[in-house]
Amino acid sequence: TSGQPAAPHRASVRRLLKRVGVVDPTSLASYREHGGYAALARAIDIGPDAMIDEIRAAGLTGRGGAAFPTAIKWRGVADEHGRSKHVIANADESEPGTFKDRVVMENDPFSVIEGLTLAGLTVGAEHGWIYIRGEYPLATRRLRHAIDEARSAGLLGGDVLGSGQAFDIELRRGAGAYICGEETALIESIEGFRGEPRNKPPFPSTHGLFGEPTAVNNPETLLSAMYIAEHGPDTFRLEGTEKSPGTRLFCLSGHVAAPGVYEVAMGTTLGDLIELAGGATGTTRAILMGGAAGTFVGADQLDMPLTHEDTRERGTTLGSGVVTLFDDSVDFMSLVLRIAEFFRGESCGQCVPCRVGVVRQHEVLVELRDSGAALRPERHELVDDIARAMADASICGLGHTAAGAVQSAIRLGLIGGTP
Ligand code: NAD
Ligand code: SF4
Repeated sequence: TSGQPAAPHRASVRRLLKRVGVVDPTSLASYREHGGYAALARAIDIGPDAMIDEIRAAGLTGRGGAAFPTAIKWRGVADEHGRSKHVIANADESEPGTFKDRVVMENDPFSVIEGLTLAGLTVGAEHGWIYIRGEYPLATRRLRHAIDEARSAGLLGGDVLGSGQAFDIELRRGAGAYICGEETALIESIEGFRGEPRNKPPFPSTHGLFGEPTAVNNPETLLSAMYIAEHGPDTFRLEGTEKSPGTRLFCLSGHVAAPGVYEVAMGTTLGDLIELAGGATGTTRAILMGGAAGTFVGADQLDMPLTHEDTRERGTTLGSGVVTLFDDSVDFMSLVLRIAEFFRGESCGQCVPCRVGVVRQHEVLVELRDSGAALRPERHELVDDIARAMADASICGLGHTAAGAVQSAIRLGLIGGTP
C-alpha cells in the first residue's frame, strides 16, 4: 500500500489460503491439480495414531476461538473403540466480524471436505457433518457441489481413496441463531431440537451427536490439520511461536484501508497485521479483538504479538481472529449498546445468570446513554457484578463472554466517563 516492499515479518503467508483465488471452486479436477487430496493420502498412509501424534507434535489448537488442543480432542474420540462416531465441521460462523471460514468455503470448498474426511478417518468416524450458517448461500452451494463431486470420485462413500474405510458427509444449514454455533447447541439442532447448549462435561468427544463420540472442529482447524498431514509438524512449526505455532486467518474490518482475510504467522504484531491491511484510515481509538465475544484494546497495543499467550497476558483474546478498528469518530456508546443488545437477543434463555444478566446489562447501558452522565459508582458495581455472575455461572460460552466488550469499553474509558 505504501509502495514499499513489506518487511519479511509483515508478509502474509499462504498456507491455508494457498488455493483461494487460484483454483476453480467448482472443479474437483482443478482442486487435485493444485495438490488436493495429498494430505488425506498421507494421513491414510501413516495411519490414525501417527496422524494424531503429528498433530500433537505440531501443537495445533482449535481455530474457532477456544484454542483447545486438537490432538487431545481427536485422541479422545479415537479412543472410544467400537462405538459409532461423528465428525462435524462447525461452519456456523456467526461471531460478528468473523468471515474467514466463509472465504475458504466459497473459494476452496474441497479443502473443507478433504479436511473433514481426514478428521473422520483419523478418529474412526463414518459420519461427517457440515453445519453451516443459513446466511452463507454461496458457500452452501459450493460445499454441496463439492460433496457430490467427491462422492462421485470415490473420495466419499464406502471406500475412501482406497483406504477400505467408509466415510460420508451431510450438510445442515442453521437458521440464523448465534447460539447454534456453540457446539452442543449445534448438535441439538442437527438432532432436530431447539438449539440449547448442554452442560459440559461430558464433552462431545465422548457424548456428542446422538450421544455418540463426536469431534467438532472449525474449518480453519481442519485446514491446519491438513497442512500438518502434508508437510509434517516441524514444517508447521516454522511459522508461529513455541506456544502458538502455525499461522492464523485474521478478519480485518472497520476503519482499515483494505478490509479482508489475512493469513499471518502467529506472533505477528497487531500493528504489522493492520499495516498488511493497508493501515488504519483514521486515528485509531480502539480495536475490538475477538468480536462481540471479545474485548476492546487501545491503540497502545499495536506492539502486541498475536499469540494466545500474549493476548491472554494483556487481558484480551485472539478468539475467532476478529480485528475491528474504530477511529475517533465512532460513537462508542451506541456501539457498545448494540453489542449488549445483540447478546440480549441471542441468549437462549436456558440459564438464569445469562438470561437475566444480558437484560440487566443492556438496561444499565440504556440508562447510562439516556442520562448522558458518567457511570455512577453503584451502577459500575452492578455491571461488574452482572459480568462476574455471567462469567462464573453461565452454562455456555455465550454467557461467559457476553460482558467482555462492555467491561473493556468501560475500562478503556470508551463509555461511562473517565476511567
Ligand atoms: P470450550 O473451551 O468449552 O471448548 C473448546 C473445545 O474443546 C470444544 O470443542 C470442547 O468440546 C473441547 N474440550 C474442552 N475441554 C475438553 C476435554 N476435557 N475433553 C475433550 N474436549 C474438550 O469453548 P467453547 O464454548 O466451545 O468455545 C468458546 C469460543 O468460541 C470463544 O472463545 C469464542 O471466541 C468462540 N466463538 C466463535 C465463534 C465463531 O463464529 N467462530 C462464535 C462465537 C464464539
Ligand atoms: Fe443459553 Fe446463555 Fe445459558 Fe448459554 S449461557 S445456555 S446462551 S442462557
